[in-house]
Amino acid sequence: MHHKKIGILGGGQLGKMLCQDASKLGLSLHILEKDNSFPAYSICSQFTFGDFKNYDDVYNFGKDKDVITVEIEAVNTKALHDLQTAGKEVYPQPEVLDIIKDKGLQKQFYADHNFPTSDFHLYKDVDDLKSNIKNGKLKYPFVQKSRTDGYDGQGVAVIKNETDLPKLIDAPCLSEDLVDIEKEISVIVARSTTGELKAFPVVEMEFHPTANLVEYLFAPSNIPTAKQKEALDIAISLTEKLGIVGLLAVELFLTKDGEILINEVAPRPHNSGHQTIEGNITSQYEQHIRAITGMPLGDTAATGASVMVNLLGEVDSIGPTEYHNIKDCLKVSGAHLHLYGKAMSKPYRKMGHATIVAETLEEAVKKATYIKNTLSIKGDGKAS
Ligand code: ADP
Repeated sequence: MHHKKIGILGGGQLGKMLCQDASKLGLSLHILEKDNSFPAYSICSQFTFGDFKNYDDVYNFGKDKDVITVEIEAVNTKALHDLQTAGKEVYPQPEVLDIIKDKGLQKQFYADHNFPTSDFHLYKDVDDLKSNIKNGKLKYPFVQKSRTDGYDGQGVAVIKNETDLPKLIDAPCLSEDLVDIEKEISVIVARSTTGELKAFPVVEMEFHPTANLVEYLFAPSNIPTAKQKEALDIAISLTEKLGIVGLLAVELFLTKDGEILINEVAPRPHNSGHQTIEGNITSQYEQHIRAITGMPLGDTAATGASVMVNLLGEVDSIGPTEYHNIKDCLKVSGAHLHLYGKAMSKPYRKMGHATIVAETLEEAVKKATYIKNTLSIKGDGKAS
């Protein structure tokens, strides 16, 4: 496997962290991304400028690689199908990516294979959805999701009543029943080219109240053991049913009624696995590399309690990135800062994260809260 040339579509923070861990295994990664302001630029061994949504850029990038993988799902899968036909190893497989990059097909897959998920309907556009409200088929409250290109809560609208209608997104979309959520949890599973399969322990996510993205992550989860087992079983059988090679991050809801429902999946390293770098024996990034190169999968056990906090760009500023109070945060023992090196800070942009590993979750939460309130990342100008 050491002679294999591995290419990644996307050069964001997930690509950067894949490069960091691949390097530990003596492997070098090649990145396709638009420009040198992306986090992986400073660390990958070869960077090709291009657009992972463009057929020619993806095909040309892939044709001299042995293995092609992704750090984002919204890529040109037509090119990936053709690379696979030309004999390249593409993981996750393009046919799996085609399902996952479209939330409508994802939900249909769960329904077709009897995986638990909230009820849903598909619409060709926002007018189609609105006419279903008018004719009484779609009732409040519901959640609208754009079928493609949503991320970090962009492309999700919670519609509780008529006054929320201006929030509707104009795109091919789906509606879902609004779930009464007790906890949002996640399970990351790896499946190797050899079929070996291993899951990381269940973690809990807490969402930012307005930004709609993960703010804190707690590992291990303290939901009842039986519910953890149920979530693990669902995530593992979904991974097997999809037949994916690489990582599958499965986001689930524990409902107030004690049900476990699949929310959505990502076919790549995920925000809910950042803490595995310091908090588990093997990180999700190393596991992904092991899986796609057919190496034995690593031990996924947690080494202690950990809390991850996303460090977001401050809401009132935009511009070249400035960091404030880093020194105070570096003094916190057990805290690991990851600053992604993004050139521009924007409101709520993911600029970095910190993982705190401690003996107890309480201690880790305290330190994470301190870092969240102390470190400030902002642009040099005012956001409008
Ligand atoms: P993204 O792809 O942007 O992460 P998600 O589909 O995960 O979008 O939705 C973002 C968040 O919106 C979820 O983490 C959850 O808090 C909320 N959400 C999504 N679907 C539902 C639902 N059916 N019921 C209640 N809340 C939901």
